[in-house]
Amino acid sequence: MSGIVRKLAEGDCLLTANYANCSEYLGPHRRFILWVQGCERNCMGCISPEMQSLTGGTALSVESLFNMIADSHKIYGTEGMTISGGEPFYQADRLCGLISRVREHFDFGVIIYTGYTLDELEKSGEEDVLRLVNMADVIVDGEYISELDDDRGMRGSSNQRVIMLSDRYRSCEDYFDSLSGRKNHIYIKDGKMQFIGIPSGATKRIINLVSDREV
Ligand code: SF4
Repeated sequence: MSGIVRKLAEGDCLLTANYANCSEYLGPHRRFILWVQGCERNCMGCISPEMQSLTGGTALSVESLFNMIADSHKIYGTEGMTISGGEPFYQADRLCGLISRVREHFDFGVIIYTGYTLDELEKSGEEDVLRLVNMADVIVDGEYISELDDDRGMRGSSNQRVIMLSDRYRSCEDYFDSLSGRKNHIYIKDGKMQFIGIPSGATKRIINLVSDREV
């Protein structure tokens, strides 16, 4: 492996694909959702291929993201954030900076979806990668394998694991594994259809109907 962390944006900026100020569809409780831009894994059936390019997306400074999260916490009472993408660990250094900044001000849970396995992250020996692992309360790990998508729980396919790294969400283990855990929010933003959540079979059928791709 040639290294995980890479510089995708200038200064202290994070290359982002999208965000949602408040959602109850990608983890327990109300959450701020951040989708980062960039993933070279190219899983078959990836639900967000537009987030794969390393040069797309929008660069946002850690400070502007902190302000958005602080507003979300104040206005909606969000309990934490979920970071997905794209591959969050490419930008582990910036995400560590963001989470530290947030936690200086309030207690905030962190759930991270990554295509790497926890073993790969731990064996990387990269300081920022290990720091980000240590900051996460839950990591959902492993690449998405469409043949193993059983339409169950808060992971895309059955090879992926929901790993509790702290006790924060331990009482929510049933939620993560629930047969009815896949609830999705579909909406229009900037003229494009967006959705939040691990896509259920029904959501995939809607995406296939309204787009020219098959997921
Ligand atoms: S790891 Fe996630 S974002 Fe990357 S290609 Fe696979 S499904 Fe898509």
